Amino acid sequence: MIKNKVLALSFFAALHLLIFSSAFAQVPKKIKTIIVDAGHGGTDVGASGQYENSMRSKEKDVTLAISLKLVAELRKQFPEINVVPTRTTDIYHSVTEKAKIANDNKGDLFLCIHADSGPLKTGKRQVGTREETRYKITYTGKGKRKKKISTPYSVTVPVYEYFKIPLTRKGTSVWILAPHKAASKTSAIQKEFDEVDFENVNADTSFKPLKTTSPEFKTLANIYAKRYFERSDRLATMVNDEIAETGREALGVFQRQVGIYVLQATNMPAILVETGFINTPEDEHYINSPQGQQEIAEAITAAVKTYKDQVEKQVSVPSNENALPKEDTPTPVAISSRPVKETKAIQVKNNTVKIDILDDAELDNDIVTVYFNKALVVDKKVLTAKAFSFIVNLIEGKTNELVLYAENLGAIAPNTALMIINDGVTRYEVKLSSDFKNNASVKFELKK
Ligand SMILES: [Zn+2]
Repeated sequence: MIKNKVLALSFFAALHLLIFSSAFAQVPKKIKTIIVDAGHGGTDVGASGQYENSMRSKEKDVTLAISLKLVAELRKQFPEINVVPTRTTDIYHSVTEKAKIANDNKGDLFLCIHADSGPLKTGKRQVGTREETRYKITYTGKGKRKKKISTPYSVTVPVYEYFKIPLTRKGTSVWILAPHKAASKTSAIQKEFDEVDFENVNADTSFKPLKTTSPEFKTLANIYAKRYFERSDRLATMVNDEIAETGREALGVFQRQVGIYVLQATNMPAILVETGFINTPEDEHYINSPQGQQEIAEAITAAVKTYKDQVEKQVSVPSNENALPKEDTPTPVAISSRPVKETKAIQVKNNTVKIDILDDAELDNDIVTVYFNKALVVDKKVLTAKAFSFIVNLIEGKTNELVLYAENLGAIAPNTALMIINDGVTRYEVKLSSDFKNNASVKFELKK
């Protein structure tokens, strides 16, 4: 419809202005405003419980209930922060309207609350039998006298009923926008998620997401990646960790390029929490219970607190921010005493790179120390199956090197580590092994 096209066009014009005018502004250090978006609403029901014997709950109601508790919790813990809900009642907003509320209120964080679902399989089961009359056909006579005789007989046939089989997937996942990510580069686990019908049902017709190949998208994506990717990812990781603390299944942080229109259109760090699976009985009960809703609200609030403390006090995650190599930076003994035997070179497209380090092999208590551009960034960390994350900032026009130093050999030599390197565009996996004779390293080449 023409009206919608005009709306969408003027929206993007406004968005461009908004983003370009603030492209060079400092990312605010103080968290003054938090936007809480209860996903869906009004005629947009979202997903609903549809399996047999489900509570028939609707995503729009669950998201509203959790959002109201989240708003209350945030206000209670941070009375100085302006907490703005996109809705407090069962009303419909297009995703553009939701984004506009966030942008008009100059949010410093955008928290989006949703519930997951997926296609349901239909099951069939026998509920009884019934008698059915069939006919046996026989013939008598020959030629013109041939006669057809049908003899009725009774058979017992099964009677089936059909029902929707509930999902078995459960847990909470956190999503962020991965602006550049090509669909073909999604990781295996994400592929699994792609089978889930992710918010597709509710695609808003008045909002056409930019084609990911369009120059506009690339420009916006670039700005977003530079300004917000790292912060969104950091907050998302904290939410995931807090969810894990509750004992609930924390599925992790996932990136998606499309399908999170509302994140695409907000000019601030943004995350989307898929609180639970509405078509999985255990999860449906959890996200509908006041206790479950409160637990989620408190977990998100706790993550916001950690994030706020980091951003405002600049107690950053281990980072080389304060440790830019100067000419007179002495080479640490750990580096000079052990030559690098194994080095991996990778090309990255952003200055800010997130690194997750973990032991993907048998857990044998490997302890590592990591230097980035000769500066200590990870000090004697035991590698576990759960990733330890840190951020490094690359310097343009020079070789940026990360060195892995083995503090021990673990129970099984050598000391092995898996590094997941993410520049907001691509995710690389690098396996490194080091021992008492040699260090291992990753060299980053910055190619924008
Ligand atoms: Zn949703």
